[in-house]
Amino acid sequence: MSQPPGQLTFVAPRRAKPARHLADLSMAERRAAVTELGEKAFRADQLSRHYFERLTTDVQAMTDLPAASRDKLATLLPNLLTPVRELTTDGGTTRKTLWRLFDGALVESVLMRYPDRVTMCVSSQAGCGMNCPFCATGQAGLTRNMSTAEIVEQVVAGARALAAGEVPGGPGRVSNVVFMGMGEPLANYKQVIGAVRRLVEPAPHGLGISARSVTVSTVGLVPAIGKLADEGLPVTLALSLHAPDDELRDTLVPINTRWKVAEVLDAAWAYAARTKRRVSIEYALIKDVNDQEWRADLLGKLIKNKLVHVNLIPLNPTPGSKWTASRPEDERAFVRRLQFHGVPVTVRDTRGREIDGACGQLAAAE
Ligand code: SAH
Repeated sequence: MSQPPGQLTFVAPRRAKPARHLADLSMAERRAAVTELGEKAFRADQLSRHYFERLTTDVQAMTDLPAASRDKLATLLPNLLTPVRELTTDGGTTRKTLWRLFDGALVESVLMRYPDRVTMCVSSQAGCGMNCPFCATGQAGLTRNMSTAEIVEQVVAGARALAAGEVPGGPGRVSNVVFMGMGEPLANYKQVIGAVRRLVEPAPHGLGISARSVTVSTVGLVPAIGKLADEGLPVTLALSLHAPDDELRDTLVPINTRWKVAEVLDAAWAYAARTKRRVSIEYALIKDVNDQEWRADLLGKLIKNKLVHVNLIPLNPTPGSKWTASRPEDERAFVRRLQFHGVPVTVRDTRGREIDGACGQLAAAE
């Protein structure tokens, strides 16, 4: 499946839904679900503790549950993700997992361990409908939206691997989650918000990750950015800008034909004002395409004096793309130009490139 250039797909194909899972539900909904199964409501709390705190799904090992109730309660912990393949690099501290979902759809997630943190990069859709020409996921089109629990399960799987000491560096915890895997998170809004709530709810109701350590990255769905600002969830917003001018952005990020640079930046400033969170502007540096000094200058003028930070991403190679990363001297000049305007800027590392696990390289093929 591939998309003609510029075509956008907002509505995911209708598909059978994955089984209902504990992680799809708020605490109140979990208690109701358990009661419907004929069990006492507090069993939902016990089950949540096993899942979110002890990271187990084996009900037979849940000795605080009556043996006769275990099979009934197990229906709330269906297996949603089956690992197909695992690739590691950086001495095992970067690992990409390919997952098969119940209906055969494939998605990927990436765990990255740094000295001071562990970041899980998760998918929110199988495929993506946003069709950015430099992104491998965008080229494959949209298969379907993921459920809240399918999203959460990727993080829980990472947490489990860390707790079990499978990742070099000793037992650890997931400290950060970035919605930068496959899919456009704000095009699957409801399920993604549900997942963010499960991630930030304190244990045992959720994973207890700080909302500030959760980043939602978007091509710039303006109405959804407005909605996100109203959720009362101070997550970090990352905006995939990639060009400061409409003419170029129309081609690099096709959603720009709906919402222009000025509109999407206004939405970002409103988000920053509302949440007091610094917005991250993502800008993939593509040789001789968007890396000219005049574009850095234009970008600097558009965003200076705002609650903002620029994350430059050296373009990662994708199959069939004629584009490559900028020359080092052009990258340096771009950085200097932004700094001249007083804009905080960093260059993202290329973690995971060797295993096609870096930004824009997730294509989920067997
Ligand atoms: N749909 C979301 C999440 C996508 S991935 C979004 O677009 O924001 C996270 C970042 O990687 C985005 O900024 C995306 O534009 C960028 N990206 C995509 N392909 C890339 C590539 N080949 N090299 C570098 N960055 C890329």
